[in-house]
Amino acid sequence: MRYISTRGTAPVLTFEQAMLTGLARDGGLYLPETIPTLTKDQIAAMAGQSYEEIAFTVMRPFIGDTFSDDQFRDLIAKAYAGFGHDARAPLVQLAPNHFLLELFHGPTLAFKDFAMQLIGQMFQAALSRSGDRVTIVGATSGDTGSAAIEAFRGLDNVDVFILFPHGRVSEVQRRQMTTPSESNVHALAVDGDFDDCQAAVKDMFNDFAFREDVKLAGVNSINWGRVLAQVVYYFSSAVSLGAPHREVSFTVPTGNFGDIFAGYIAQQMGLPIKDLIVATNRNDILHRTLETGSYTKEGVEPTISPSMDIQVSSNFERALFYAYGQDGAAVAGQMEDLKSGGFQISQGAYQMLKDTFKSGRVSEDETSATIKNYLAQHGELLCPHTAVGAHVAEMHLGTTPMITLATAHPAKFPDAVKAASGIAAPLPPRMADLYDRPERVTRVANDLSALQAVIKERITL
Ligand SMILES: *Cc1c(COP(=O)(O)O)cnc(C)c1O
Repeated sequence: MRYISTRGTAPVLTFEQAMLTGLARDGGLYLPETIPTLTKDQIAAMAGQSYEEIAFTVMRPFIGDTFSDDQFRDLIAKAYAGFGHDARAPLVQLAPNHFLLELFHGPTLAFKDFAMQLIGQMFQAALSRSGDRVTIVGATSGDTGSAAIEAFRGLDNVDVFILFPHGRVSEVQRRQMTTPSESNVHALAVDGDFDDCQAAVKDMFNDFAFREDVKLAGVNSINWGRVLAQVVYYFSSAVSLGAPHREVSFTVPTGNFGDIFAGYIAQQMGLPIKDLIVATNRNDILHRTLETGSYTKEGVEPTISPSMDIQVSSNFERALFYAYGQDGAAVAGQMEDLKSGGFQISQGAYQMLKDTFKSGRVSEDETSATIKNYLAQHGELLCPHTAVGAHVAEMHLGTTPMITLATAHPAKFPDAVKAASGIAAPLPPRMADLYDRPERVTRVANDLSALQAVIKERITL
């Protein structure tokens, strides 16, 4: 399996290279040259299988010879062993034809663990074979940083540094980053906001001497390995509702478009998905694009579903690549126009996107009301992101079973959940001592050379 860039001019890579590289050298995102398909019989055989067995069948065609079958099975087993639920991604029924896919039983209580835990294992295996080591540096406004720390804590060959804005993440999110005690984990509280953290990380990647010196690597949401790991739960949930003999639809709380794009890949692989529905909060660039065909930046407004507060949606570029019939030059041109504010999608490409994705937008009041109503009517406490999804899903309920992705545990967003429902969501028992564990964090000025100095001093070369 070979990987090509959405902008058409970067080197063609293997799975291993695409995973370790992240962003392509031409600024594009990596995709498999062709999307492998599974037969109806292969999908039917998943009924009753473990999440790990389904994961192997779904991902195996994409990884080429990066890992042997036995090794890949072993990495999958290790990745999901720490989850707090034997089903890994259990399905809960809300109403006759509406189901909730609980993706929050991983170590940081959000769906990003599904991808990050596997990426951690795959990085470790690839690096110990080559003898290389890397320094992972990332910026977070909350969820991604803790998922990366949980994935890489205690692994050889990797140091992980996460920059977060001092005083601007929730207490649960901060503690998830500052309480792991392993010496390869480094939580850096930056005196600045999230944009400052993100800009610092970008500057580090553009400082080629530093990049080479510390062997910088990234695991942000454009990494193909992350998208791939998320394809699995579309299969496991659809099969438990009768696929491939019966169609299902999905509603996905969306920010950077990674999660819903994984659903598109599942559909292209042969899973009978009727509707793929993008749910956004008031940061609605994707909803507006699907309504109008014009992809235009606006400012970001903070919401109670902060992991979906985005100005542009990085993985949308992958959907554009398919919409433009895999024409990298056309995608590169549109991305150039985005620098000056936005672009109009051509008629044919827009039609493909409209045929593939539906969408809806949810206000802050509707999000809170949904949290309240779902507790009263279905006995389920939803996190604000999941509530955005559930609200949009309701507008599309019909004869096809609808699966709404529950992207985080309500205890991760205790203030918004309590304000809406009157109830404080408790942390699961395995994490109940989070508030008692000692914290370890380094406060750093919002200054590139200060940050680089801390990283150089701390890495275990
Ligand atoms: C990251 C995140 C999302 C958005 O997922 P994308 O793949 O970026 O579209 C939604 N909900 C939660 C809780 C998240 O952490």
